Amino acid sequence: MAVIKRRDTIQVMVGNVPIGGNAPIVVQSMTNTDTADIDETVEQIDHLAAAGSEIVRITVNNDAAAKAVPHIKEKLMNRGVPVPIVGDFHYNGHILLTKYPDMAESLGKFRINPGNTGTKARDKNFTTIVEQAIKYDKPVRIGVNWGSLDQQLLAERMDANNKLDDPKSAKEVMLDTMVESAKRSSSLAEEVGLDSNKMIISCKMSGVQDVIEVYTRIAEEVSYPLHVGLTEAGMGMKGMVASATALSVILQRGIGDTIRVSLTPQPGADRALEVQVAQQVLQSLGIRSFIPQVTSCPGCGRTKSTYFQELAEEIQDYIKESMPIWSHVYPGVEEMDVAVMGCVVNGPGESRAANIGISLPGTFEEPKAPVYMDGEHFTTLKGEGIGREFRKILMDYIEKNYKK
Ligand code: SF4
Repeated sequence: MAVIKRRDTIQVMVGNVPIGGNAPIVVQSMTNTDTADIDETVEQIDHLAAAGSEIVRITVNNDAAAKAVPHIKEKLMNRGVPVPIVGDFHYNGHILLTKYPDMAESLGKFRINPGNTGTKARDKNFTTIVEQAIKYDKPVRIGVNWGSLDQQLLAERMDANNKLDDPKSAKEVMLDTMVESAKRSSSLAEEVGLDSNKMIISCKMSGVQDVIEVYTRIAEEVSYPLHVGLTEAGMGMKGMVASATALSVILQRGIGDTIRVSLTPQPGADRALEVQVAQQVLQSLGIRSFIPQVTSCPGCGRTKSTYFQELAEEIQDYIKESMPIWSHVYPGVEEMDVAVMGCVVNGPGESRAANIGISLPGTFEEPKAPVYMDGEHFTTLKGEGIGREFRKILMDYIEKNYKK
């Protein structure tokens, strides 16, 4: 497997979570509850943290939300959930952070959108937020977003571009301005007195090629850790594939210290899906492991029955349900590979390559399922209870190889 050489960055601590400086790439997410609803927000943060979100962001958009933050923090601590909470501020962050010191103190980081700190007073408001970060010893994320890019800066750059003999495209100017906005804001924060190890940068866009381009550029310009993600990725399959595509290219270039997958949830869907997608991107790239991987074939005309699909799903669900306990009892189990294959064509090969694998009988094949363990044939299962017996063999393997 190709080794990804991570970009060197300063390390920033968000609560007790290190970001950058060769720390593992951190998975984060954001709630979609009304922050003022303390119980609902605590419940969702707890759920996201349990799913693997190592940092959780909440919106702090008004007085009620600001007042709720210390209570949210306290309730999480009482539940034994020490996940750092990040406050997302737009338009009135300078007012709320000054007015509610307990809220500022409770947060692990402040997210500032430099495009949304005001128009005429943008630098003054930005400075106020940075001063509060210094006062409470908190890091900030300067989160540039193309949908709310600093309009004053963009207009200046567009005007300057129009006067050139060979003007750039509007998209090029937009990308330049994204990078410039991030650099300008980080320089201003340092001038105000924020230490360089208190700053994280993001430059999010919703187009896959655009976000790859902008992160590639900003990575060459600053040494702060980068929070990477495709903004407004969309819903369902489109959002997951677009996010995975963008993140994969950026991460493969060694860029990115913390990631978020910004999915639009389907009504009633589990918010933690975005955490699972982020983890799966990191695991697919061989960067971090979170859960044993099940390799299964797509099936074809050689497998007319759905039996092997059902078994692959059963094993995958079993692993997913068991992980909250396994991760404590069986350290390292997340590195395990399991293969569930449909027939003898590729079955034995994939099964031998996995830690443990089963090759089910295809149509017209003898009704038996060889099981392989660490590359060797272990046993052959037959009859009705193949799924149950394979799970038992899997459990014995885990017990033997990963028990603390
Ligand atoms: S392993 Fe067998 S069943 Fe699965 S896709 Fe290949 S040929 Fe088809």
